[in-house]
Amino acid sequence: MEIIRLVAETKAKISKFKEEGKSIGFVPTMGALHQGHLSLTEQSVKNNDITIVSIFVNPTQFNNPNDLKTYPRCIEDDLEKLSKYNPDIIFIPEVEEIYPEPDTRVFNFGQLDTVMEGKNRPGHFNGVAQVVSKLFDIVTPDNSYFGQKDFQQVAVIKQMVKDLKLSVNIVPCPIIREEDGLAMSSRNMLLSDVQRKNASKISETLFKARNLAAELNVTQLKNWVVEEINKNPYLSVEYFEIVDDTTLTQINSWDEDNVKVGCITVQVGKIRLIDNVTF
Ligand code: AMP
Repeated sequence: MEIIRLVAETKAKISKFKEEGKSIGFVPTMGALHQGHLSLTEQSVKNNDITIVSIFVNPTQFNNPNDLKTYPRCIEDDLEKLSKYNPDIIFIPEVEEIYPEPDTRVFNFGQLDTVMEGKNRPGHFNGVAQVVSKLFDIVTPDNSYFGQKDFQQVAVIKQMVKDLKLSVNIVPCPIIREEDGLAMSSRNMLLSDVQRKNASKISETLFKARNLAAELNVTQLKNWVVEEINKNPYLSVEYFEIVDDTTLTQINSWDEDNVKVGCITVQVGKIRLIDNVTF
């Protein structure tokens, strides 16, 4: 496991691997690693000759300066966790290395960026596309691994790959959860004990909703989820939408012939948590 901080050095290593005909798997992260990130790493190591994990807290995807400031950073811990999975390169660039000058590119993802996280975090997915496209340019992966926890992000990245005509294969990976069902997230460590305990109500409600879909229509079910979670004094639902898994347009009826995903964002004190379930 080699730690590299410079773009030029990473590129040089990778071009050597490519000359040797090796396949490249890539796992982009913002660090504060947990089992979710490690599951992506594990899959990449299993299915590629070489695996690169990046740790970079990307400033351009934070629309809230306080969120960027408080985002957890614990590189030493991260490296120790990663060492058990034996990826080949950990790329940990400084901001100036990725953005030697400001990135002024504006992506247009249409509907994918105007709903849910796109609507509630203006500029977020543009920042994600900026950093992921730059990282893809450096790493030139064959396969890149993304968690379904950030369901809308996977849709946006797939669209970006199409728009930029890149040859990387995007591999979506299942959501890894804590024992009580809470989706693992780097932001969970910012919760107080009592907030953490109550946060399990989010996934608990989503799982119950999956069963209730047989009895309630789409609008009734959406209202039920929001009311159920908002009953908890520590939780406040920002939105709950049930959408088509590729277009992200809202579902009006269970009869529609598509894969339906219920996506939620909940404010727990100052911390914003997201989760989703497939119906
Ligand atoms: P982040 O460090 O939050 O930018 O996440 C890096 C990658 O890990 C993204 O592809 C996330 O979707 C993925 N990820 C984060 N949490 C989880 C989880 N609980 N299960 C699976 N993947 C996750």
